[in-house]
Amino acid sequence: MIFIPRQESFQCGHCGADVQPLKKGSCRNHCPQCLYSKHVDEVGPGDRASICHGLMEPIGIEQKGQEFMICHRCTTCGILRRNKSAPDDDGDTMIRVMQEQTGGITTSDHRSWGS
Ligand SMILES: [Zn+2]
Ligand SMILES: [Zn+2]
Repeated sequence: MIFIPRQESFQCGHCGADVQPLKKGSCRNHCPQCLYSKHVDEVGPGDRASICHGLMEPIGIEQKGQEFMICHRCTTCGILRRNKSAPDDDGDTMIRVMQEQTGGITTSDHRSWGS
């Protein structure tokens, strides 16, 4: 059985934490401690086609059924993205982002990936 890992560990560009890939479940693309992500995908998750590589700041949390989506904005190019939160994301950080969330974000500003 051949397993091609799509997930790699990376170092968080914001808090410096070593972020390990999730053992199972969805693709991890953000830091579980500070929720920052990196702008590496251009068209869809995992394509790694972006040349931006800017830091993606968590600017809001949205609830979608049982799941939480983290809204990220690239601090370099300003693109908005939504990503599924991971089970081990830091709860306190999630709450803090929720509280800091401004009302200025509308769903039409996002490009939603799947689901
Ligand atoms: Zn971090
Ligand atoms: Zn960017």
